Amino acid sequence: MPELAEVAYYAKQWDAGIGQHVTKVQLHPEARIFRQADNLAEWTDLLAGRRYEERWTHGKQMAFRFGKGWLWGHLGMTGKLWMAERDHVPEKHDHLVIHLTRHALVVTDPRMFGAWRWLSASAWATHEAGLAPPILSDAFTKGLLNDFLKRRARTPLKALLLQQERFPGIGNWMADEILWRSGLHPNRQAGSLSPKESGLLWQKCRLVARQALRVIGTDWSTPPNSWLFNHRWKDGGQCPCGTPLRRASVGGRTTCWCPRCQPATTETDGLT
Ligand SMILES: [Zn+2]
Repeated sequence: MPELAEVAYYAKQWDAGIGQHVTKVQLHPEARIFRQADNLAEWTDLLAGRRYEERWTHGKQMAFRFGKGWLWGHLGMTGKLWMAERDHVPEKHDHLVIHLTRHALVVTDPRMFGAWRWLSASAWATHEAGLAPPILSDAFTKGLLNDFLKRRARTPLKALLLQQERFPGIGNWMADEILWRSGLHPNRQAGSLSPKESGLLWQKCRLVARQALRVIGTDWSTPPNSWLFNHRWKDGGQCPCGTPLRRASVGGRTTCWCPRCQPATTETDGLT
């Protein structure tokens, strides 16, 4: 599932089309990625002749402005955006192709868990006003995180970090990375953190988001070996500290942690 940085990476794939005008739209109206689009029949007319102006991302969401309206979407599990030749002929999973004067913008999504909508300028303003502060914005403060930890005091940290209404764009690997860097066990209850631990968690949320955007979000580079990322995917992985990594389901998601760097406490519910 694409997270913050992967979403930023895919959104950039259409950048070469900025400044070009829409000449034609081809789409598969039955594709499930349009299940939330209430005006799909009008997309061709709505988009025709409009100029592709800018991209926008927020957590797992992305949007692209054409004239004053926005094409909004998310990638689900298998969605990908890429840039094709102007005369690209859509293949089976290319459910949306926006032809521009020199290129074509393509949405490919084999499993179709992604979703796409067209938002007018006013619908866009309403949508944007309701969003949580991005992790890297000034509005994502220590106080904001603290309040959330207190409000969800009994939630394991791993499950907490996956809640998009507070941590937009954080998914499974980023949550594990943040907790590992914070030295916090994934099953610790959110309400059990000391002020120092909660400050550290806030700092690592920002650090991991920034580094992920720089490394993966730019050109999908492989993160350095000093990240948990490179060690967490396969059984038998070792923490850079030399300890075998542990793996279990926490908050309903496969979670990886180092029992030495992230020690169990009385609040980790017996999970060590
Ligand atoms: Zn370790």
